[in-house]
Amino acid sequence: MENWTNGIAQITLPTPFEVGDVHVYLIKDETITLVDAGALTEVAWQQFKVSLKKLGLTPEDIDQIVLTHHHPDHVGLVDKLPKSTPVLAHPNADRWIFRTEEFKTLHRETFTEWFEHFGIPEKFSFYLDLLLSPMDYACQRKLDISLTEGMTLPGHPEWTVLETPGHATSHISLFREKDGMLMGGDVLLQHISSNPILEPPLQKGGERHKPLVDYIITLERLAELNPTTVYPGHGEIMDGGVGELIHKRLKAQDDRAHKVMEMLKVKEHLSVFEICKKLFPHAYKTQLPLTISETIGQLDYIEFVKNRGVQK
Ligand SMILES: [Zn+2]
Repeated sequence: MENWTNGIAQITLPTPFEVGDVHVYLIKDETITLVDAGALTEVAWQQFKVSLKKLGLTPEDIDQIVLTHHHPDHVGLVDKLPKSTPVLAHPNADRWIFRTEEFKTLHRETFTEWFEHFGIPEKFSFYLDLLLSPMDYACQRKLDISLTEGMTLPGHPEWTVLETPGHATSHISLFREKDGMLMGGDVLLQHISSNPILEPPLQKGGERHKPLVDYIITLERLAELNPTTVYPGHGEIMDGGVGELIHKRLKAQDDRAHKVMEMLKVKEHLSVFEICKKLFPHAYKTQLPLTISETIGQLDYIEFVKNRGVQK
């Protein structure tokens, strides 16, 4: 879609990740904003420049870069764009897009502790060395401007920032109320469900966040918002039927949680790792961090639904 529709243009770029291509977007008002920036590879950069040219733009024409979240497939090419182009994102993205030694240590220590706590056998500890390796395709740039809930996107008076955590703690979406357009990043994808991903606490010793619970609350909020069109980070643009898709995702999640509840009825004291193996009998071997995040999510979700039931 290398043309402008409703002041929005989509550019699709390859990534080295299993998810495949990523979409980045340009929003044109008085200001030209790039939303997300692909993975840091030479092939993505070349393709980005070619696509920009088709839109009549050069990298220098981009006034600012907004990141929907900090994942490497969404932030890498920031490093290729002029240093003078400001980067806007949620404050939680900062430590990921500019990784300090202190952050890497916190990350390592947190996951070492969690692996033990979750009952993950020693033979899987090599994963600890791999957890941050996807970030090799991310940028290394400080955040210039923080975007938080309810802010108007600078240069775009019709676009509002929504905090939509779950897939990442830094996740934001951009909403244009007049026509219900949502720049959704990875908050809702047509063909796959978004993974809730564990991240270390902001400070050492801080409480573990609950990515799946955050994500469910985000989805419920989106259902209420009822966007007409969602421009996603991956897959097809969702034009209509967003409510149904959200409903489908919420239902699938509830079904998965019921599966876990059944397991716990049979045997009450299962470790997170044991539940993970039952939920993902094959994938746990090759995608341990992701499947563990998903499993923890189920346990958090069960507790969340229970507490919510009590409150009602
Ligand atoms: Zn992502």
